[in-house]
Amino acid sequence: MPSYVIAEKCDGCKGGDKTACMYICPNDLMVLDPNAMKAYNQEPDQCWECFSCVKICPTQAIEVRGYSDFVPLGSSVMPMLGTEDVMWTCKFRNGTVKRFKFPIRTTAEGQANAYADLKGKDIESQLLSTEESEGRELPKPIATV
Ligand code: SF4
Ligand code: SF4
Repeated sequence: MPSYVIAEKCDGCKGGDKTACMYICPNDLMVLDPNAMKAYNQEPDQCWECFSCVKICPTQAIEVRGYSDFVPLGSSVMPMLGTEDVMWTCKFRNGTVKRFKFPIRTTAEGQANAYADLKGKDIESQLLSTEESEGRELPKPIATV
């Protein structure tokens, strides 16, 4: 579900030329209402739900509600950036709160090797790279008429 700004938490990035959410949005969706000093998503239909604005907002004023593909439907998902990791807080609609911490990748720009962890794996296989191939059968294609 598209990003939205919680107005009470937004301080308009204290009146800078370009707010953090405007700077980071890859789709130029975030704009600032200069009178109210509140940002908003001007075109929610175009939101990719990439969480970039959620991560960068200094006041945690932006939320993206998850679809049921990675959290229970309608949960709020809030990443907190640290120097070493990102802490994700998921609040379910029934009040349950779960937190997950993942390390930040620190590979220098241009140094990433996408295949480094795949040594010895068959990259032509139809299985996912993390799936064990031994003893597993590929799903049979469904016959169509
Ligand atoms: S980054 Fe956060 S505080 Fe800054 S304008 Fe956007 S929503 Fe408001
Ligand atoms: S979630 Fe991504 S695409 Fe959507 S408004 Fe935020 S930065 Fe832009």
